Amino acid sequence: MTIPKWKQNLVTGYQNFRAGNYGRQKELYEQLGTEGQSPEVLVISCVDSRVSPSAVFNAHPGEMFILRNVANIVPPCEPSAGYHGTSAAIEFAVSNMKVSVIVVMGHESCGGVAAFLASLDKNPDENAEHSFLGNWVEILDAAYKNFMASDANEVSQQRQMEYAGVRQSLINLMSFPFVEKAVMAGELSLLGAYFSIIEGRLLFVENGVFEEVEISSAD
Ligand SMILES: [Zn+2]
Repeated sequence: MTIPKWKQNLVTGYQNFRAGNYGRQKELYEQLGTEGQSPEVLVISCVDSRVSPSAVFNAHPGEMFILRNVANIVPPCEPSAGYHGTSAAIEFAVSNMKVSVIVVMGHESCGGVAAFLASLDKNPDENAEHSFLGNWVEILDAAYKNFMASDANEVSQQRQMEYAGVRQSLINLMSFPFVEKAVMAGELSLLGAYFSIIEGRLLFVENGVFEEVEISSAD
C-alpha cells in the first residue's frame, strides 16, 4: 500500500524534528512537560502558512502562547452563548498564564483581509449565504471605517486594511474586562506588529505608526 505524499511529508518532518530540534531541546521539553509552561508572550497571528510566529521570533518551545485565526482578528468582547474560541484563548493567556504582552501580528497578502475587501464589492444577496469565513471577517468592518490617516501613504488598499485590522484588534482587546484591568494595572502591554512576507521584514506599531524593526548588520 502506498503512503500518500502528504503523510510521508508529515512523517519525514517529524523524523527530522526528532533528529534535529528535538534532540537539541530534549531537556527543555522534559522540563516544560514536567513543570508546565509559563510563556511571557501571547502572539495573535493569522493561520496563513507563510506567517509562523515561532519562526519570525525564533522562539523556543514554551516561550510563546500562540493564537492563530483567519486574519489575526480579535473580536469584540461578547459574553454571549456560542463558541468563542479566540476569546477563550485570550482569557486563558491573560487570566491563567498571566502573559506580560499580547502581540497582534498582521501580514502582507492576507487572504482573510482580501476576502473582506472582496465582500465590499458584492451585492447584499451574494453575501447573504452563510459562510463561517464571511461572518468572521465581517468583524473587520469596524477597522474599515477607521482607516488611519497615517496609513494613507500606503499605496494599496489591501495594506491599509491589513494595518487597520491590527489596530482594530488592539482596540477590541481592550473591550475584554480582564485585558483592560491588566493593562491599567501595568501588568500587561499590547503591541501591534506586521510581517511582510516577500522581504521577511517585521514592523512594530510605535507611537501609533508602523515602523520597521531594525535587523542586525549581519543580515
Ligand atoms: Zn492572513
